[in-house]
Order: sequence, then structure tokens, then C-alpha cells
Amino acid sequence: MDEIFSRIRQARERMAEAAERSGRSAEAVTLVAVTKTVPAERVRLAYEAGLRVFGENRVQEAREKSGALTDLPLAHWQLIGHLQTNKVARAVELFEMVQSVDSIHLAEALNRSAEAHSKRLLVLLEVNVGEEASKEGVRPEALAALAEAVVRLPHLEVQGLMTVAPSTPQPEAVRPVFRKLRELREAMRERFPEATWQHLSMGMSEDYVVAIEEGATMVRLGRALFGERTIK
Ligand SMILES: *Cc1c(COP(=O)(O)O)cnc(C)c1O
Repeated sequence: MDEIFSRIRQARERMAEAAERSGRSAEAVTLVAVTKTVPAERVRLAYEAGLRVFGENRVQEAREKSGALTDLPLAHWQLIGHLQTNKVARAVELFEMVQSVDSIHLAEALNRSAEAHSKRLLVLLEVNVGEEASKEGVRPEALAALAEAVVRLPHLEVQGLMTVAPSTPQPEAVRPVFRKLRELREAMRERFPEATWQHLSMGMSEDYVVAIEEGATMVRLGRALFGERTIK
């Protein structure tokens, strides 16, 4: 049997235990399978193992892959990587959610394109909580201004926040990053009650247990499910 099945089972068990430790049920946390560099046939196996939400970080790759998997009726595709404005129209066609909104300019472009497609696009605001120079995402001090602009855009539905924590072999070291994102979410909820702020997308293969303990509602797992990526 393909090891994807046992990896998914193991991840789900660890997710359920962490959810319990945070006083929530396993269903409160969505497993987003990060399928960048993973060929369509293996994504199909993951679907057969019960996964439904797939995260890609490039529009072109997602287009090819989802195009090869149009027979999976319950698959949901989400964009988790940086989006250039010239790819906004294709992104709006392909994805149900864009997790990586980090500027007003991008949000406005997505809103115009969603309107043209008569669509309401789900979005998360990406925050660079660790304030690493190399990372995408809005700085925490600039989040409120971004949120204020995005909640007004009629074709976008803001559902929460996303972050990519600094990479570390010691997951405990990034607990403060996850806690900070949760606190930012509470602040946004108070200031902009017109959005639900239901989602905190945080935690990847190395640190998802800690992220769930700190309140993640979505974890994005690539290597934990599919093994090491051979190409970037
Ligand atoms: C690649 C990627 C992931 C998954 O990383 P793993 O370490 O393989 O789990 C999650 N989120 C984003 C934004 C990514 O680019």
C-alpha cells in the first residue's frame, strides 16, 4: 500500500490529539495538503485517502494539475503562495481561496477579477509575524490598514489570517509566532466584526502540532504527507 495512506493517518492522529489539547474537536482543524511538486497521480491517491483541500503555491502548476484532476468532484484548490498581479485572473478562475493576500493593491485586483467572474473569492490575509526580510506577508503593524480596506471589497470574503513561521528544527521556538497570529486575529475580530475571522492558517510539517495547540484551524502539510520534495 502506498505510504501516503499511513502518513495521512498518522498526521490526522497527531492533529486530533493536538486539537484535543486545545479544547477542540478534530473536525475544527482542516488539513490542507500542500501538493507543490507532487504529481497529479499522487494527489489522486491523497484524494482517495480522504483529503479534499489542496494547496498550491504557483498558479501555472495548479492549473496543470487541477486540469488533470477535474474528475475529483469534491476537491477544493487554494493558493498559498505569493501571487503576482498579472496572474490574478487565472488565480480567480482556479482557486476557491487565496491565503496569501498581503497588499491592498493585490486585494483590489482580486476583487475586480472576482467581480468579472461573478464570483465571491475567499481570502486570508498573510502576516509576516516573524518579520523575516525574506518572507511574504504584511507586517503586523500594517495589518489593520490592510484589513480595513479588504473587508470593504464586495467580491472578497475575508475569513482570517495566515502565516509562514520561520523554519526551525525546534517547533517550540515558533510557538510565540502562532500565539501572536491568534492575538492579531482577536484584534481584527474586535475592530472589523463584519468579517468572520474564523480561520487561522498556520503550521506546516515541522510545527503543525504546536500551531494547533495555539489555535490553528488550517494546517498546511506537504512533506509530512508526500515525503521530501526532490525539486523546489
Ligand atoms: C511548501 C509550503 C507549505 C508546506 O510545507 P511542508 O514543510 O512541506 O509541510 C506550507 N505553506 C506554504 C506557504 C508553503 O509554501
